Amino acid sequence: GTGPYDPDNIFAKILRGDIPCKKVFENEWVLAFQDIAPKAAVHVLIIPKKPYVSFIDFTKSAPTDEISGVMKSAGQIASDLGLDDKGYRVITNAGENGGQEVPHFHLHLLGGQSLPPFPV
Ligand code: 5GP
Repeated sequence: GTGPYDPDNIFAKILRGDIPCKKVFENEWVLAFQDIAPKAAVHVLIIPKKPYVSFIDFTKSAPTDEISGVMKSAGQIASDLGLDDKGYRVITNAGENGGQEVPHFHLHLLGGQSLPPFPV
């Protein structure tokens, strides 16, 4: 969750367009796309366009307008997907103990079904 950003991680490649994704949403702050191995009926990954390893350096280093932009975007995406009425879950895994696999900060948006009790 800390340490230098690896510009060759899979989400960096998706951001560059080097590998494809199923895009859901894009604005100045974020790109959102379908998780390749969905854990729920809706499973969207929301990633900042700028290079942060995890929630750890994002919250330490990102300017507040970017933090706000990313979080507002996540809410908008959920709303656009029609999830507001029934609710949903937003998760971020940070670092080794958090089970983070891809070292580019991302939010998991899970919904479209009744989710099992946390943790999922
Ligand atoms: P983490 O464990 O880092 O929080 O979650 C990484 C997520 O990225 C996993 O849910 C995994 O299924 C997803 N993922 C890994 N590689 C790819 C990929 O190449 N494309 C997409 N769309 N999702 C990926």
